Amino acid sequence: MVDIQNDAAERLHSQGGRMTAQRRLILSTLESLSGHPTAEQIYEQARLSDPRLNLSTVYRTLRWLSAEGLVSPQRFEGQQRQGRFDLGQAEAHHHFLCVSCGRVIEFSEPALEVIGAKWGRRLHVRVDGMTLVLRGLCEACRSAGVQATDGGHGEVVSTASMRVGSV
Ligand SMILES: [Zn+2]
Ligand SMILES: [Zn+2]
Repeated sequence: MVDIQNDAAERLHSQGGRMTAQRRLILSTLESLSGHPTAEQIYEQARLSDPRLNLSTVYRTLRWLSAEGLVSPQRFEGQQRQGRFDLGQAEAHHHFLCVSCGRVIEFSEPALEVIGAKWGRRLHVRVDGMTLVLRGLCEACRSAGVQATDGGHGEVVSTASMRVGSV
């Protein structure tokens, strides 16, 4: 796990920007919310600490963090359309998405890296990334008797790319 507060402060400094109280709040909120929150969820939570915060500041900060590679935006098929933000991007990992409650569980699977490398060789391409999203019902939803509507098939999606925004 990266120390995002320090990393972001250093990069801001090298770009002539600075770590404002609102940026710090957005970062600490992102860290405190597990499960890959959306920008709106970060906003709703952070606003409790600073009612003057507005959503566009949250979006702008998240775009900048994404462009710097400090967070990775994820889009999970079948989930709401907003991107969700992933702090755990330092290590390659994959996701399980609960189609009922939206819970995201991370896992890593070295065998997938082997598959990626194999297909890179076969296709004569350079593989830079791979994201596996397994879908279904989490343990809590299964215990609660929720019925799956989504089949629960695994699916490979690419990480959504976001454009660079100004700081
Ligand atoms: Zn993740
Ligand atoms: Zn669930």
